[in-house]
Amino acid sequence: MFLEIKDLRKSYNNVEALKGISFQVPENSIFGLLGPNGAGKTTFIRILNRIIAYDSGQILFNGEPLNNKHVNQIGYLPEERGLYKKMYVGEQIMYFAQLKGLTKQQAYKKARELLQHFEMLGWWNKKVEELSKGMQQKVQFVITIIHNPDLLIFDEPFSGFDPINQKLLKQEIIKLQQQGKTILFSTHNMASVEELCDSIVLINKGQIILQGKIDDIKQQFKQNIYTIKFKERNIQLPENQSFNIINHKDNTFTIKILQGTANDLLNYAMQYGTIILFEEKLPTLDEIFISAVKNHKTSDK
Ligand code: ADP
Repeated sequence: MFLEIKDLRKSYNNVEALKGISFQVPENSIFGLLGPNGAGKTTFIRILNRIIAYDSGQILFNGEPLNNKHVNQIGYLPEERGLYKKMYVGEQIMYFAQLKGLTKQQAYKKARELLQHFEMLGWWNKKVEELSKGMQQKVQFVITIIHNPDLLIFDEPFSGFDPINQKLLKQEIIKLQQQGKTILFSTHNMASVEELCDSIVLINKGQIILQGKIDDIKQQFKQNIYTIKFKERNIQLPENQSFNIINHKDNTFTIKILQGTANDLLNYAMQYGTIILFEEKLPTLDEIFISAVKNHKTSDK
């Protein structure tokens, strides 16, 4: 499925949480919804889940205006987990699955299948309050995917997971994409965004300040910086008007080209030693996020 958001607006009393955002989530993508605290991400996700209403604009779900029938095609893992502590795990999973339209038999079959897959079948008759935080999150993940939704929304899915379970979860997210699902992914963990997402939007104070494919965005923000690694240690590479050494550790130099080309830099560096690595250094998503948010001037300021 694909999503189209057109000039979406939402205010809470005096706070304009979304000031007319427009973007598309392509079919079968893993899409990052990013932004600092208070940007409007949760507001958008709640609107998409029809938990709250929007003021104006359009949301198209596979080209159709979003309506109640789409709710069963969405799986939402909220940041604030909401499981019933006193309920048994199996019973709880079946309850939520039936809310999303599965029959009791389907819910039972699917719940057992998924618990088996995640090696959690032994938890069926445990109360949620008996599980660790990470275990509860795995239960919640199962609840999110059990009705085989076309759109999955994960809000900070990795928080509370140990590295082993984080890896498992990443693999499951990739598997969902391979099955043809569309995944909307909101997190502050930029490394996981670089690893998983194809495209992103970056929202700040209710406005989109950056959007597109991660590779394109990195090209857009690159600063003509190169990494050079020499075979020999103790290389003395002098600076000049064209090349500014911004970092130097052991036999590796990070250099910004002020004038000239990468070939000029390579020719220059070759005079001083044997080069074993020469590559353009693209900014990390973390650096791009920080610089884009810092430079964003809002009209209401
Ligand atoms: P994010 O999820 O990106 O941190 P939110 O969508 O939660 O951002 O919040 C966006 C803005 O809307 C913030 O300024 C926040 O204070 C405000 N806001 C969110 N929910 C409410 C609410 N229920 N009532 C009033 N203001 C709200």
